[in-house]
Amino acid sequence: MNTQKYYYTDSYITDFQANIIEAIPYDDKFAIRLDKTYFYPESGGQPCDRGTINGEEIVSIIESQGVTLHITQNKLQEGLAHCHIDWDVRFDHMQQHSGQHILSACFYKLFNGETSSFHIGKDSSTIEIDIESFDHNMAEQIEEMANGIIYKNTSITASIVDKDTLAALPLRKQPKVDSNIRIIDIKDCDCSPCGGTHVNSTGEISIIKIKKFEKLKSSYKFEFLCGKRALKDYTYKNYVINKLSAYLSSPDSDIESAFNKLTDDYKGLQKQVSSLRSELISYDVEQLFLQASDIGNAKVITKVFDNREFNDVKLIAQGLASKPSSIALLASKGQNCQMIFARSEDITVDMNHLLKSILPVLNGKGGGSPKAAQGGGSGDIDAALVAVVEALKLQ
Ligand SMILES: [Zn+2]
Repeated sequence: MNTQKYYYTDSYITDFQANIIEAIPYDDKFAIRLDKTYFYPESGGQPCDRGTINGEEIVSIIESQGVTLHITQNKLQEGLAHCHIDWDVRFDHMQQHSGQHILSACFYKLFNGETSSFHIGKDSSTIEIDIESFDHNMAEQIEEMANGIIYKNTSITASIVDKDTLAALPLRKQPKVDSNIRIIDIKDCDCSPCGGTHVNSTGEISIIKIKKFEKLKSSYKFEFLCGKRALKDYTYKNYVINKLSAYLSSPDSDIESAFNKLTDDYKGLQKQVSSLRSELISYDVEQLFLQASDIGNAKVITKVFDNREFNDVKLIAQGLASKPSSIALLASKGQNCQMIFARSEDITVDMNHLLKSILPVLNGKGGGSPKAAQGGGSGDIDAALVAVVEALKLQ
């Protein structure tokens, strides 16, 4: 026997008595059947209610072949029970769902956009509208119309209609069921079949705000907030804007230009740093080349940098290798050490071979070509480089 669904006629009841007909084992939980219920099961894009039956928390509510199943962790005794609905959650869902009907109606009226899906999420809700293009100006028009309906505080009524009455109604969309058709009528705004819980007047929605939108293949997806969710979002955004305003020493209205200026300044500084870095690298190359030791017909440069960015060290090695008859044996010492060995075209010593000869001492890894090789390891890099130089002298 189907559960009598009282939430169809009254969304505002939070406490009621009902008879527990049975408690059926349901996975590792129990599915409680009541003779009647005001609890809304998850359906039509609206999440289920929260609440208790005889103090036992309901973990989810589902609809199965006309029967509402209230899922609990523990078994409940058959008989009369006190049921309680969490009003904050219920009212939030009512605000979001009624807000969605108004939004969908506005999309339809203004841009002929039909709603293809709707979902109330934990923090925000989404609708998908079949529309080819959309922009911020259109979003403002939608919001103005939707919130105008809220300002008028018009009535929202729910009723089950017969087929003759249905045929005469200006429906925005056709019902998915063919019996017990419930119509939600928002006066002078929208008339749609729906099984959800709704507020009694549009004023209770307080505000409808489109948070963001994105283009999908042939539609747009909109994230929106109604009522308390919109207030919460405003509170957060106000907090962030005030922080930014103080940080940028700029009034709210100028934050964007102040931020753009900061970004431009940062990019300018990055360019300057990059140019100074190149100059410093060129200077290092020249200074190190002056200090090179002559071994055979090669000029050998060894240097261990402390905490120098390895990219810089590599550029210095490249610079030295572009000089005639040079061998650069460079390293950067931090927590670990990184090495780069590079040579000029006119030298024949194999850098890869040279690097690999000291890797075992440094417990390191690495490799490269006869012309340039790099690696990393740990241990006494200074001593290791001295050993490399001694090896070079013997060649
Ligand atoms: Zn609905």
